[in-house]
Amino acid sequence: GEMHPINLHEGIESTLLILRNRFKGNGQRSSIELIEDYGELPQVDCYPSQINQVFLNLINNAIDALEEFGVGNSWHLVTGQTIANPTIWIRTERLDNDRVVVRIADNGPGMTEEVKSKLFDPFFTTKPIGKGTGLGLSISYQIVVEKHGGILQCSSKPGEGTEFAIELPTLQYSK
Ligand code: ADP
Ligand code: MG
Repeated sequence: GEMHPINLHEGIESTLLILRNRFKGNGQRSSIELIEDYGELPQVDCYPSQINQVFLNLINNAIDALEEFGVGNSWHLVTGQTIANPTIWIRTERLDNDRVVVRIADNGPGMTEEVKSKLFDPFFTTKPIGKGTGLGLSISYQIVVEKHGGILQCSSKPGEGTEFAIELPTLQYSK
């Protein structure tokens, strides 16, 4: 595909169409709440299918993190931790004239420093065989940083949750 200006909110929504059945209110068992909070954004010059791939990877990771919790998402399968309201927040914000940010956050188990230090390494995964390839974040990093001149940042604390921030330039980035 070619680089062209898009409305990021449409990209997020079309990605969510693929994932809707994993959220609460779908008539199935999932209890994950989705909260969207969109700010006013200018169009962003990008490779739309690549950026949608990043949204898909990050939202899927957040869902995976919350689904590690047991039935009703009330207890963690491994740690025995509890979580009252498994939630994913998607927020967008214009930072200044030439930068926007999309934040994808969850109140899942979070990550240890060791996991955080390997996050963007190809093939790094903590998921069981067949569940994770360990490629989602390394590909997302390439797309955001190398193909779009953006920034991909993670902040996470064990027991509190995780937030990924995708910062993209609104101006044409030639590469
Ligand atoms: P995969 O999802 O196939 O494991 P990724 O590159 O997408 O590969 O993610 C690498 C690892 O980063 C995951 O296995 C997991 O340990 C950690 N991770 C990513 N997102 C989250 C999140 N939202 N909460 C907790 N851990 C996460
Ligand atoms: Mg993944």
